[in-house]
Amino acid sequence: MSKHHRGHDDGHGHHHHANQFTDMEARVKALETVLTEKGLIDPAAIDAIVETYETKIGPRNGARVVAKTWSDPDFADWLKRDATAAIASLGFTGRQGEHMRAVFNTPDTHNLIVCTLCSCYPWAVLGLPPVWYKAPPYRSRAVIDPRGVLAEFGLELPGAKKIRVWDSTAELRYLVVPERPEGTAGLDEEALAALVTRDSMIGTGLALSPEAAR
Ligand code: FE
Repeated sequence: MSKHHRGHDDGHGHHHHANQFTDMEARVKALETVLTEKGLIDPAAIDAIVETYETKIGPRNGARVVAKTWSDPDFADWLKRDATAAIASLGFTGRQGEHMRAVFNTPDTHNLIVCTLCSCYPWAVLGLPPVWYKAPPYRSRAVIDPRGVLAEFGLELPGAKKIRVWDSTAELRYLVVPERPEGTAGLDEEALAALVTRDSMIGTGLALSPEAAR
């Protein structure tokens, strides 16, 4: 997967490959087909595993980063200055050459991440990207009409709130730090992490309230 992101850059840290398989993707596809035909694997079981990584296992790393950021001002500071190092200190590291930047939601500004050219995603903290993140409608419309896209995710932001859209590249991946919900003063990091959804770290959602998480 990293191979297609090296060399042939267009100055953006990308090159165009939206409609073609990378070498790795083609090999994985071929393996899946052979193993399925031989009756060795069930594609539905693979889908279930992928789904688990997308929604459950992967994003838990990011949730721990956010919970620590909410609880520990020194860590929040570090994350703001050098997200790559702060995140690595928790044991979550990217591939060689990738850097992380954390963007913090505030009462004035909401942050949204996208990769307009392909599907660059902070996999070390969020796991595998959801299908919609890789789909052309999200990639094109997140930039042109972020407010409309968020509304489709059920997130209606007040008109006065600014939306900043961050375009990920092979070299730089973003993590949204959602605002800490009200009524969470007494919670420890583990309880806080349970409020941090995957979508809240992409910017297509907010962190859950303690009532909603129950
Ligand atoms: Fe990309």
